[in-house]
Amino acid sequence: MAILIMAAPARMKAWREAIGANFPGEDIRCWPGMGEPADIDIVVYGGNEPELFGKLANLKLVISQRAGIDDLIGNPHLSQDVAICRAQDPKGDRMLDDYALLLTLYHHRHMPDLLAANARAEWIDPGVLPADERSVGVMGLGIIGMSVARRLRDAGFRVAGWSRTRRDEPGMECFHGPDQFDTFLARSEILLNLLALTPETVDIVDAANLARLPKGASVINLGRGEHVVDSDLITAVDSGHIDSATLDVFRTEPLPADHPFWKHPRIFVMPHTARRPRAESLTPGILEIIRRFRAGEPLPRMADRARGY
Ligand code: NAP
Repeated sequence: MAILIMAAPARMKAWREAIGANFPGEDIRCWPGMGEPADIDIVVYGGNEPELFGKLANLKLVISQRAGIDDLIGNPHLSQDVAICRAQDPKGDRMLDDYALLLTLYHHRHMPDLLAANARAEWIDPGVLPADERSVGVMGLGIIGMSVARRLRDAGFRVAGWSRTRRDEPGMECFHGPDQFDTFLARSEILLNLLALTPETVDIVDAANLARLPKGASVINLGRGEHVVDSDLITAVDSGHIDSATLDVFRTEPLPADHPFWKHPRIFVMPHTARRPRAESLTPGILEIIRRFRAGEPLPRMADRARGY
């Protein structure tokens, strides 16, 4: 049995020391120095080495440093028997909450209009409203999404969330499942996506669902690029039905220089800058998962392959 850590050098050092201190008997390997592949039963994964898993015959557990695990679930080299758990802090991510608030305020306070007016040296009144007169809809109320939704609620917005299963949260209207999706969309003046990427949610921000948003709504995508049908979003913004959009994630990253998003005056491209989790924020999750796995206990934040996240 051995644990392989795949991470940038600073994280690698931090986690090798933390795992070594907490589990003195563990055989710890640091990528790319993995030694005998058949020894490895746990990988702390953050890299882009999708084919590696096919070489690890005795792999039992992958601990993901990333919140999104769609690339692991869909990895053909990773056996279905291998458990996937997220190291993610279950309380959410403060940096992502800040970022979601920043971008929500950007649209709520008409910054696309104001920046365009600046460029024309024109003094405009964009018609500002208080936050409690703005309805924000958060798609996805998981670890990250619920934390963001709470932050927006606490900033005074009228927040609703939508998830697969029912959630209850004070001060927030919670919708769930396909039957309640249209009602959720119809009241979302700013739509913020934090869904997991699955076969059910791919392309969910398409022409039909954009048309269900109120006229003049804005869209913020912090989930995955594959949630948005790029051409449908551009058409909806050009038609004026959607006011503007901010995108942090893209089907291809970095976003190619010739992609129409770059030059669109009402689509703001952010180069996947939502957050940079510190090694320390993931360490407790990594240690907890290793401890439980070695003890044969149920694993926290484990992906359910059948539901796709
Ligand atoms: P999570 O804890 O797995 O939560 C996923 C959420 O999606 C849950 O609320 C889940 O519903 C909902 N969902 C899944 N399938 C659905 C469906 N068919 N219909 C309705 N709701 C559905 O994920 P997370 O950690 O919050 O992360 C959310 C997303 O943010 C991921 O796509 C991740 O990749 C992305 N992310 C982006 C950044 C960035 O830098 N931009 C950083 C971190 C995360 P239930 O609550 O019912 O399970």
